[in-house]
Amino acid sequence: MSRVVIVGGGGTGDAAAFALRKRGFDGEILILSADRDRPYDRPYLSKEFLRSEVELPKVFLHEEADYVRERIDLRLASPVIGGSLRERTVTVSAGEVAFDVLVLGLGGTPRRPQGLPSADNVLTLRSLRDSQALSQALGSSKRLLMVGAGFIGAEVAASARKLGKEVIMVEALGVPLQRALGSQVGEIYAEIHRSHGVDLRTGTTVDEWHVNAGRVTGVGLSDGTHEDADLVLVAAGIDPNLDLPRALGLPIEGGGVRVDKGLRAAENVYAGGDMAFHNHPVLGRPIRVEHWEVAKGHGRGIAASVVGGDAPYTKLPYFWSDQYDVSLEYRGNAAGDDTAAWRGDRRALTFSVFYLRAGVVEGVLSMNDAKTNEVGGKLIESRRKVDPSALENMDIDLTELVPSLPAG
Ligand SMILES: Cc1cc2nc3c(=O)[nH]c(=O)nc-3n(C[C@H](O)[C@H](O)[C@H](O)COP(=O)(O)OP(=O)(O)OC[C@H]3O[C@@H](n4cnc5c(N)ncnc54)[C@H](O)[C@@H]3O)c2cc1C
Repeated sequence: MSRVVIVGGGGTGDAAAFALRKRGFDGEILILSADRDRPYDRPYLSKEFLRSEVELPKVFLHEEADYVRERIDLRLASPVIGGSLRERTVTVSAGEVAFDVLVLGLGGTPRRPQGLPSADNVLTLRSLRDSQALSQALGSSKRLLMVGAGFIGAEVAASARKLGKEVIMVEALGVPLQRALGSQVGEIYAEIHRSHGVDLRTGTTVDEWHVNAGRVTGVGLSDGTHEDADLVLVAAGIDPNLDLPRALGLPIEGGGVRVDKGLRAAENVYAGGDMAFHNHPVLGRPIRVEHWEVAKGHGRGIAASVVGGDAPYTKLPYFWSDQYDVSLEYRGNAAGDDTAAWRGDRRALTFSVFYLRAGVVEGVLSMNDAKTNEVGGKLIESRRKVDPSALENMDIDLTELVPSLPAG
């Protein structure tokens, strides 16, 4: 197994490359990335970097010299446009590149809703350069229109308020972050954004775009109002990049590439990050998660599989989101119809919500409550039935519910 070709220089690809070396892989490692910049920390792009609180060098995951030292051949601006599993090759504009092992971490592309005009001041946010362009545009704008109140929309809205901009945030669903966090937690986020001065319009869509000289100047909304804006960010989610996996004939399911417990999509072909529909061994079902720690974890898990044989990747999904001074953490993976058990003080924004299915905890969400979130992760891993009222009872020490943990 002499050459690993990694397609995608993001969270998954970068972590896979360095983890391969850490695990003693001595063959060739080649990263082919469509991006023009070396791998960077994407979560900074809607937060500290966008607000100019961290400088560019801190945003990169590694120094250029690190790739040289670890013998990782990083080729930027090299999109892979096709390939053949039978020939064991991928195609770049210059020709074919042979692989023994192929790793895909292609991420996704921001959606552009139908009817969106292509105007100079209508932006999306995925890459470092998108963030630089947004930061520059924010500098000379007064009123930002956010289309979409998912994580990217909500975080950019918080950043823009911190920068002193007026923000109007339009969301088709009933509350912000509804798909990811459900209605009740979404309602709390609605209050948080409104209390920080965001003009939040939920259950609302953009009906009309007013464009003048190539720039959007305002919109007509479905609530019948007209709003001016001098900058628009569309944050309507992503579509995982599946053209290449399709061309390679990999199994497509659940909006991504179907991978087994060890993140394998086909013989010596692995996929991770936003595009992986992973059969999670602990949760016992396939999930696709669009979060940073998951992508990096997948990268390391793929390296473990490549070096040590196909080992199941068991780490629970974990993510966080920082908006204003509110810190959210989430472990596991829950669905909207799971039973919710609330613990802590909702009004003080220090609480956790446990999501149970047939009495087993599947996910735990915590607002400013990191310790409970950690114990919640152990509860999920234990796969034991738990009484929701015990989770809600602040007199009960949660560690007592986890068999392997010492109480206290
Ligand atoms: C602004 C922003 C803020 C975020 N904040 C958070 C956060 O606070 N917490 C959190 O948990 N998650 C956050 N995320 C999500 C997180 O960054 C993603 O889940 C993670 O980056 C996914 O990693 P990935 O490896 O799947 O894809 P990516 O990191 O997107 O990397 C994909 C790479 O593949 C390359 N590529 C695509 N197609 C090709 C091709 N055909 N050939 C070659 N290369 C290709 C791309 O150029 C890119 O380099 C944020 C995302 C964004 C955009």
